[in-house]
Amino acid sequence: SKTSSAFPLGALSIFHLAVRSHMSEQLTSQEVIQLTKDHNYGTWRKQKFWNPNHLVSADGCYFTDGNGKKFLDFSSQLMCSNLGHNNKAVIESIKKQAETLAYAAPFYATTARAELSKLLLEVLPEGLTKFFFTTSGTDANEAAFKIARMYTGKTKIISRYRSYHGSTAMSIAATGDPRRWPIEPRGKGQGIIFSPEVNCYKCPLKHSYPECGIACADYLDYMIANEGDVAAVIVEPVVGTNGVLIPPKGYFKKLREVCDKHGVLLIADEVMSGWGRTGKWFAIDNWDLKPDILTTAKGITSAYVPLGLCATTQKIADFFEDNYFAHGHTYEAHPMTLGPAVATIGEMRRLNLVDRANEIGAYLGEKLNALKPKHPSIGDVRGIGLFWAVELVKDQKEKTPFNTWQEKLDGKPIVVEQIAARMLGEGVVMQAWMSHFVLAPPLIVEKEDIDKAVAALDSALVMADSLL
Ligand code: PLP
Repeated sequence: SKTSSAFPLGALSIFHLAVRSHMSEQLTSQEVIQLTKDHNYGTWRKQKFWNPNHLVSADGCYFTDGNGKKFLDFSSQLMCSNLGHNNKAVIESIKKQAETLAYAAPFYATTARAELSKLLLEVLPEGLTKFFFTTSGTDANEAAFKIARMYTGKTKIISRYRSYHGSTAMSIAATGDPRRWPIEPRGKGQGIIFSPEVNCYKCPLKHSYPECGIACADYLDYMIANEGDVAAVIVEPVVGTNGVLIPPKGYFKKLREVCDKHGVLLIADEVMSGWGRTGKWFAIDNWDLKPDILTTAKGITSAYVPLGLCATTQKIADFFEDNYFAHGHTYEAHPMTLGPAVATIGEMRRLNLVDRANEIGAYLGEKLNALKPKHPSIGDVRGIGLFWAVELVKDQKEKTPFNTWQEKLDGKPIVVEQIAARMLGEGVVMQAWMSHFVLAPPLIVEKEDIDKAVAALDSALVMADSLL
């Protein structure tokens, strides 16, 4: 770069960059990366293993880095850019909202909030009529936990081992995957207990469907009866990061019955699975489940602005007519997040993206299933809509993963991450997590993009096969 040889980045560079910015010169990519690494926390990792790429611009399903290299974004960033990048209607809505009313304290009524509420009544599963708007999925879940406790007067929350519900004190405590380990045992005080995940590929109860009679739902009945004081059960209707786990037919009917039997609320965490991802507006629409509370974020604005939502039934809403609603944020129902959500839903409808996720998702599924016989390292291919996982195993019979959670937390690249790095070399970004890849491109993805991503996975998987 023009500067880095004369001024090695570090303490000196701050002075140097101040001078340069006065001269209105742009930072080089190397400077951007170094400043980012030196002065920001890289999340979910040991800092020495953080090597961020400099992302400069994005359009549709592609983004470009500081070296001008183009990447196919096959994980919609964090499974959130559902509309794809650079959608003109959403960008216009952001400008319009900023010019009209950039902020209003949450106790005012705003046109953006009213318009979005009206739209939500059309697209959300029936029965969810009262809304609390947040700025992330994490705080949507925090709101759900507090509402469940205030409404039921009970304390405990049942979550599942293979789950992710957020990163703040309570939502990370409710996260089943071992990302919660570093904050334990402090997280234990949050009143969270875990049930086994619903995973028909590798059942933690060692059953197989349908002979099991959905024993995992019976186990929950047993758990609630023995625990007592349970306020709510939280589920990701289709488990996202932890491997696109899709419950078997009949599971949600039983789960609803178990919750009703014990007077326990059912919270559907649709932060990742909502907004067309599974080929329906919400994942629970695939099974006609009626939750008491639904939380969501990500696709609600296609990640153009940070918005989360906690939606409840009217019955819960009525309770708070006469009981104090002890919750709120300065940035709750922020107009800059609500106006663009209206535009996002409008664009999803105009482009018919929910149906499209089904149609083009079927094509992706066919291509992925065709990889299975070619690669002995593939244990399972599963998916719904445009939400797919390819799970790798060391041996097909025992379904043993290549790496342990401890190895993942230790931070050296595990097998799936090494494979993802190879795909990156071919310009394809795919989320690698523990022993699987999550494939969740923007819902506007074209068949040629799918061909490109699957071809990259096909060639990179040779590495995993060679380890068997
Ligand atoms: N719940 C689920 C199912 C998620 O996938 C996520 C994030 O990936 C969250 C909650 C947390 O959302 P956020 O990262 O917006 O706080």
